[in-house]
Amino acid sequence: MNKNSFECENCGKEVPKASFGTRNRNHCPYCLYSLHVDIKPGDRGSKCGGKMPPVGKMYKPDGEEVLVHKCGKCGLTRKNRVAGDDSYEEVAKLPILEYF
Ligand SMILES: [Zn+2]
Ligand SMILES: [Zn+2]
Repeated sequence: MNKNSFECENCGKEVPKASFGTRNRNHCPYCLYSLHVDIKPGDRGSKCGGKMPPVGKMYKPDGEEVLVHKCGKCGLTRKNRVAGDDSYEEVAKLPILEYF
């Protein structure tokens, strides 16, 4: 374990922090789980620390795909950009959400 990677709390895989297409990786590319650690992206300001499973995906007007995560502890939902190396199969399994 080094500071350039972290261990996913859900699937236990080692995840490199840097990835193509994202500056602040905030979810696991294998199982897509996120952690509720930020108030604003990248600030690590939240004390919640709950696991945030992906609950669906949405498409922005420009066609960009975004994941929707929901915190299992406090219920907060958050939209996150799909990273360049996210598991395509996992993203494909998620339901498309119209609103949330
Ligand atoms: Zn994972
Ligand atoms: Zn939370």
